[in-house]
Amino acid sequence: MNQNKKIPFSPPSFNEKEIHEVLEVLRSGWITTGPKTKLFEQKITEYCKCNKTLCVSSATAGLEMILRWFGVKAGDEVIVPAYTYCATANVVEHCGAKSIMVDINKDDFNISVEAIQKAITEKTKVIMPVDIGGYPCDYNEIYQLFEDEKIKNAFSPENEIQKKLGRILIISDAAHSIGARYNNKMIGSVADVSVFSFHAVKNITTAEGGAIVLNLPEPFSNDDIYRYLNTMSLHGQTKDALAKTNKAGWKYDVIGAGYKANMTDIAAVLGIGQLERYQEILKHRKYIFETYSEAFNRYKWAILPVYQNNIKSSSCHLYMLRIKGVTEEKRDEIINKINNNGVSVNVHYQPLPMLSYYKAKGYNMNDYPLAFENYSCEITLPVHYALTDDQLDKVIKTVVEQVENADIKRVD
Ligand SMILES: *Cc1c(COP(=O)(O)O)cnc(C)c1O
Repeated sequence: MNQNKKIPFSPPSFNEKEIHEVLEVLRSGWITTGPKTKLFEQKITEYCKCNKTLCVSSATAGLEMILRWFGVKAGDEVIVPAYTYCATANVVEHCGAKSIMVDINKDDFNISVEAIQKAITEKTKVIMPVDIGGYPCDYNEIYQLFEDEKIKNAFSPENEIQKKLGRILIISDAAHSIGARYNNKMIGSVADVSVFSFHAVKNITTAEGGAIVLNLPEPFSNDDIYRYLNTMSLHGQTKDALAKTNKAGWKYDVIGAGYKANMTDIAAVLGIGQLERYQEILKHRKYIFETYSEAFNRYKWAILPVYQNNIKSSSCHLYMLRIKGVTEEKRDEIINKINNNGVSVNVHYQPLPMLSYYKAKGYNMNDYPLAFENYSCEITLPVHYALTDDQLDKVIKTVVEQVENADIKRVD
């Protein structure tokens, strides 16, 4: 490893077997959705111990498809955290509904259940918690909200699916959290629906890709919903390309103006390969988290990210370090210096009300004091499979040096 090369933030990791599998798919003559995608779906279902999995072209497409399935439309409200990637709220916009953004916890970066409770109205159709950095949200507490008769009775179903559920739908934006655990369950089998991302920087990547993981309660048939979503992921066409190649397979129907959001077999084999060695990948990510936390624990200015407690364990997606007492401007300066000294670091996330589109819609950052506080002192450090001990040392040294050199007004 060239010591002078900048340490990358989160490059993808493919082994020779995965690269070989891609070549095999290319040689097979079948490159789009087919047997490999269906196998990847089964493997995810087994891994998460959920009911059914549909692979799609991105988490964004998956989130939108589920909102549409539930009939979310203009006039409806969807509760989302102010602290997330824009995809979470953008899909609500696509449906014509309104994102009700709420503040986060102080100790982690996840949506505050208290804030959710205050935001629920008779227009609320969906709550979308986001497992930021791979750390699961407080799902028990979220579901317990429905034990409050007032909240349960406020729900106003407007279609058969909403009537059948009889309450607000919980869609977990689990873009970061495949492999995370909550209450002895894998993320993917906790919320009604969870959506994973396999984008290039995520823990498991297929370049671009995602999965809708179904876990809807009785009397829903997850198999039926899978079949419906599968059809809607390909133009609402009743036969996919593979079925059409079969004898007399040319004739099909279209049941809805569906999306073009299917996963390709080229992508799926990459996912299958990484899921097979995911325990090993997770182990290394956890080791990186432990190494960082052990090192930064010595410094009074460091607020370490929470990545496990008695019922949660993170997928260790993002190491989100916070610097006590730093201003946003000072944090930006520190980041520039770290980047200029050969270590790629990042910020996750600029809260949505700070972004032009949402600001112009009237969202005001002053309404989200904890999101702003956590954002303004946050630095995300590199975490990836190929990160070596030498590189970890360099990251730690560089961060410590640049923080200690910065003139921070301490508040300890
Ligand atoms: C990456 C990400 C998404 C979107 O995933 P894509 O697969 O790129 O569509 C959604 N939500 C969060 C929190 C993300 O980080």
